[in-house]
Parts: sequence; structure tokens; C-alpha cells
Amino acid sequence: MTGREDRVQTRLAGIPVSGVSIAGHETWFHFPTLGLTFDLGRTPTELVPVSHVFLTHAHLDHAAGLAYWCSQRRLARLPGGTAWTDPSTVETWRAILTLHARLEGVEYDAAVEPLAPGESVSLRKDLDVTAFRVSHRVPTLGFVASERRHRLVPSWRGRSAADIREATARGEAVSESWTSPLVAFCGDTSAEIFPTAPGEVFRAKVLLLECSFLEDEHKDRANGWGHLHLSEIAERADLFQNEVLVLTHLTLRTGPAEIRRLLSERLPAGLAARTIPFLP
Ligand SMILES: [Zn+2]
Ligand SMILES: [Zn+2]
Repeated sequence: MTGREDRVQTRLAGIPVSGVSIAGHETWFHFPTLGLTFDLGRTPTELVPVSHVFLTHAHLDHAAGLAYWCSQRRLARLPGGTAWTDPSTVETWRAILTLHARLEGVEYDAAVEPLAPGESVSLRKDLDVTAFRVSHRVPTLGFVASERRHRLVPSWRGRSAADIREATARGEAVSESWTSPLVAFCGDTSAEIFPTAPGEVFRAKVLLLECSFLEDEHKDRANGWGHLHLSEIAERADLFQNEVLVLTHLTLRTGPAEIRRLLSERLPAGLAARTIPFLP
């Protein structure tokens, strides 16, 4: 018997992910091959060793486990650990963590760091994460994780390996780096995301998009609380070039069978075929 609050473990466009995402209860998405988590919910044990946390906003369904994550990392003697989040919230988070550390009589090595919209952090030679602004009821960020690769500049394509090695040895720039968006995550968002989010969000292989409400009578509930309703996604079906569109933060007010029925009924067939509700 699976319950709605059970952890989901799957692959999205070939990328392994596990997580939980339910409106108002808990949201986190762990991407083990990328070495990061988007939000951390109440911090299940599997997130303790993850050193890169990208925290969209301070609502506790996304962020309740932050102090616990710092504390558990200390117990497990895991050095470092960074939670990147909106600059305007960093001072308050640090004050909260200082209080918890004082109450525990310890010091945490993990820390909260600011990431402004448009800024990136490089997690590995081949992986960057960039923040973008999202409109919700409190300061909120979205994130795009992009793969960084190198390719020959056009004038060197088709040349022999020996030529390229010699040119590299001479210090000539024979290759250039380029990025390709892998996974985008919007956190909680109103429909303002559609005109304001960077293009990579809608071109990423996987887009994790909030869709708290689906039923017609829940429309006011969605808009009143800075959340998306399925109808707002259906209206912009042409925008999504993503290989997979994952609908997250789904309400418990609508059952899984009804969610699936509404998706196939309300989304155009081309988009419905690429859309997955994040359900156990
Ligand atoms: Zn939420
Ligand atoms: Zn929220």
C-alpha cells in the first residue's frame, strides 16, 4: 500500500531522482548523480550527506529540516555543506542556525550562503547551478542545473588529432565551453514565472514545475496563495520544450487517479505525453 507521503524514486529523462512533493506538507528533490538537492523538506536521512542544498524559499514545507541537516552533518562528522538561498533571507537563517547551535552547545560546519538571481555556482567542472527570480508570497528562487561541456571551435572541427594537440601545446584556443540545461526547478510560483523565467527553464531536459491545484473550484485557492493551477500551464502548452515536464507540489485535496485524469483531459495531447505528476 503506497501513501501520498511516500518517497518517490524514479528517473526523469534518464536522470535518477528521489523525493517527496506535496503542497503544504513537504518538498525535496534529491539528484544523486548531480550531488545536490532542491529544497530539503523535513530532511530525511538520505539528504544528510548531500553537501549542496538549493533552497527555493523559507516556507517550512521546503525548509523545515535546515537546522537538522546542519546538526546531523556534524554528528556524522561530515565537513562543510552549503545551503544556497535568496540573499534577503540569509541573515535570518544564520540567526536561526546560531540559536540552534547555541541550544545544542555545538558549532555547525555547514552554512547558508546567498545566491542572487542570475548568479551561478560551479559544483563540478561539468556542472553549474544558476538561480533565477520566482514570484511567490515570500522571496523565492528557482534553479537551473546545467551540464558544462567542451567542444572544438568551428575552425578546428575536422582537423587531425595531431594538429589539435600541437595547437593546444602552442596555447591556441581550439576548444570552447558550452552549457546545456539539464534540470530546472521553480519552487513555489505564481503564473508570473512564464514571462519572467530565463529561456533555459523551458528548454531544460527536465522541468520540475509547481502545480498545486487542478480542479476548477480550486482556482481561487491557487491564485490567492501564489501557486499555479493546471489551467495556467495548459494555456501555455507551447512554451514547454522540455523532454519531461514534472508537476510537483500537488495538493492532497485531489486523489492520484483524478490528478491523472485531469492531466490527460486538460493538457494538449503533445504535452500530456511528456508530463509526469510527481506521485508515488
Ligand atoms: Zn510549498
Ligand atoms: Zn511556499
